[in-house]
Parts: sequence; C-alpha cells; structure tokens
Amino acid sequence: MKGFTDERNYVVELLDGGTTIEDAIENHIYEQALAEKNAFVVANLGALMRQHVVWQSTMPLVRPFYPVKCNRSPAVIEILAALGVGFVCSNKTELSMVLNHDVPTENIILSGVCKQLSHIKYAAKNGINYLVCDNEADLCKIARAHPNAKLLLQLSTESQAEEASMVFGCSVKRCRHLLETARELGMDVIGVVFQVPSCKDPQVYTHALADARCVFDMAEELGFHMEILDIGGGFGTSEFQLKQTHAAVIPLLEAHFPVVSAVHIIAEPGTFYVSSCFTLAVNVIGKKMVARDLHGKAVERTSTDEPEFLYYLNEGVYGSFVGKLLGNTVPSPTVHKTFTADEPGFFSSLWGPSCDALDQVVEHCLLPELTVGDWLIFKNMGASGQEEAGTIGDAQKPPVILNILFLVFFFSPVCVFFCCLFFV
Ligand SMILES: *Cc1c(COP(=O)(O)O)cnc(C)c1O
Repeated sequence: MKGFTDERNYVVELLDGGTTIEDAIENHIYEQALAEKNAFVVANLGALMRQHVVWQSTMPLVRPFYPVKCNRSPAVIEILAALGVGFVCSNKTELSMVLNHDVPTENIILSGVCKQLSHIKYAAKNGINYLVCDNEADLCKIARAHPNAKLLLQLSTESQAEEASMVFGCSVKRCRHLLETARELGMDVIGVVFQVPSCKDPQVYTHALADARCVFDMAEELGFHMEILDIGGGFGTSEFQLKQTHAAVIPLLEAHFPVVSAVHIIAEPGTFYVSSCFTLAVNVIGKKMVARDLHGKAVERTSTDEPEFLYYLNEGVYGSFVGKLLGNTVPSPTVHKTFTADEPGFFSSLWGPSCDALDQVVEHCLLPELTVGDWLIFKNMGASGQEEAGTIGDAQKPPVILNILFLVFFFSPVCVFFCCLFFV
C-alpha cells in the first residue's frame, strides 16, 4: 500500500486488490497508536464510484447533479466531474470549486432562491446560465445581473407546506405570476425544480409531479420552451431506497413527462452519493462514571447504582460532528477493539472535547466499558459536513485518507486519469 500527504491534509492510498477499508482503518489506528492518536477520516473513493454505478443502473433516465454542499472534498468533486455528473452549487465558492475541475458550464446549476448579487454576477461572468428562482425579488436581480440566465422555477411541495411553505419554493398559483414577470423582463424560463425531504412517503411525488406538469403547461402557454425537470434530492443512502423511489417516480414521469416530450429529467442526489464513502475514527480521551437519580439527572455514583459512562472524544460538534448542530443524526459508532460477546453493555453518552453543553455527540448508546485510548468508528459520515471540520472550531482538521478501492473494476480511462491525478 502506498501513501503520501499533500498540502490539503489528504493521505492518498491506493489499496491493492486484497485490502479492504477495514484493513486500511486498522493499519492507520495501529500507526496512530504509536503517534498522537489523532482522529482521522477514511474516504473510500471506490464506494463513490460504486454509488454512481448504482444510480446509473437504477435511474438510467434521470441524470444526476451532485449538490456540492453535501461534501465539498476536492477528491469527491474530482471523481464526480470525471464521471460526467453535473453539479448544484449554492454559492460562489462552490461554483469556483467546480469550475476549477473543468466542469462544463452547462453541467452546473446555481441553486438557492435568494442569491447574493455578486454570486449572480460571478455566474454570469463564467457562463453559468442555469439558475434557480422562486420569487420576484430574485428574478429582478437576475434580470439585471445575468440577462442570459436560463431559469428553473422552484416549486414548493406538499411536504414543505407544513413547515416551510413560504421559505422555499413557490406555489403553482404564484408560479403564473412569476412566469408573467419573467416574460415582461425578457427572461428565459426553461424548467422546474422541487425538493422532497429524504424520509418521505413516495406519494409526495404524485403531487409534486402533477404540479410540475401544471407549471410546464402554463409556461408553454406563455411561450416559454421548457426543457428541464429537476426532481431534487432526498434519495436516502441505499440501493433499496433508490429502487423504491424509482418505482414511485417512473410511472408518474411516464404519465406527465413521457420520453416523447423530450424533457430532460435530472435529480440532485447528495447523501446518496457520499454518505457511505466516509468513515471517521475518533479516540476516547476521557471517561467518567455516573449514575442517574430519579429525575434522570447524572449524579455521583454510589457502589450500588447501575453505572453509566460518559466518554469524551477528540472530535465533537465543533469539528467532525458539525452535522449534529445542523440537525443530522450521528450514526451509532462501533467499537474498534475486540471484546467478547458476553461482555456487558452499559448506557453511555459521547461528548466532544469542548466544555460546551451543546457538544454532545451521541446522547445515548449501549457500549461495553471502554478505556481512554480506545477507538470508536463512525461509518456513513460522508454527508455529515465533517469535511468542513475545522472551519468552526480551531482544532486542526483530522486528516482524510483517500482510499481508491475497486478502481480496476471501472472503465480504464478513468482509472488512468485518477492515477495520474493523484500521483503528480
Ligand atoms: C442539500 C441539497 C440536496 C441534497 O439532498 P440529499 O437528501 O442529500 O440528496 C439537493 N439539492 C439541494 C439544492 C440541496 O441544497
């Protein structure tokens, strides 16, 4: 196995056929055991490519546009760009990251319904014409700063209506007014986008797609040529979930947007692509034993109380677990050391290293008794914002170890490209 570190705090390792991600983690823990025991992230780029293959075989008619905000790691962008995936950017920084990877401008969408004027100007200057819009104020800004923009109107969906109906997206009714305004301003509207939440009833699509059809008809009536339907993100993480969504969506697409209508169907899968690709390993740096009183409050333990453990980790919500602050659930960890099956489990909670009450990583889990220096492994951390770690706290970012697994199973030009890319 080869490895080196570049200036971005990445260690790139090419794994040979027999080595698994688990082996790579094991090796690195072994190395760290003799060093500083710093937390680290292992990124399995083979898994990223595998997700792409799953997407293409399950949803062959729906072209993926990856939302950069889900994981901005340059390696992720690099690979997805090489695979020909499109990108959804929410600001200028993300646009420039994607442009730096030579992504063709027609494969980039500037999303967000309230855009800073300078970001619109940046898109205009760089020839990024696909912009999302859901309100008159933004429409006027775009008309001034980017008259060549091709707009995707963001439609609100039923599931959003309960919580945030007025925040994102516009209703079918308001769409007509928006379309008329766009026409008066001489702006081009070319499609519709909507977002559904990830833990949804596939029924959400029934209404969303019927509404989208309605907006297409209105737009065409007003003389717009509609070409793109964007069904948003929220495809979960597994092939099973993707197949379920596919089963729900395909008949609806056939009914409302048949292939003969020549509408390009695209989607914005984020979590689906990156979640399973990143694994985080953290070290236990502190430990307390407590008990619960009748009110559930943690108290000093007496010898007769059932013990409960508080473990302190070298990463917290101001680092790799920043996703927790953003409302993501932290996946349950696994214990790295081996323990016997009959070892008792204890109620445990996991805390970050800051002395902040918010810095609770896992509220409650059942773990065998750990000692300081043990490792915990968190899988499926790719969409939790951990690659942003270090932007909030001032601790150094954990290094990311990129493992290029399964590469040989993929089309060889891509393979050659990556090898050159990572070894220059
Ligand atoms: C975050 C985001 C998504 C991704 O949703 P997933 O559930 O991660 O697939 C899609 N589109 C936009 C505009 C987003 O901001």
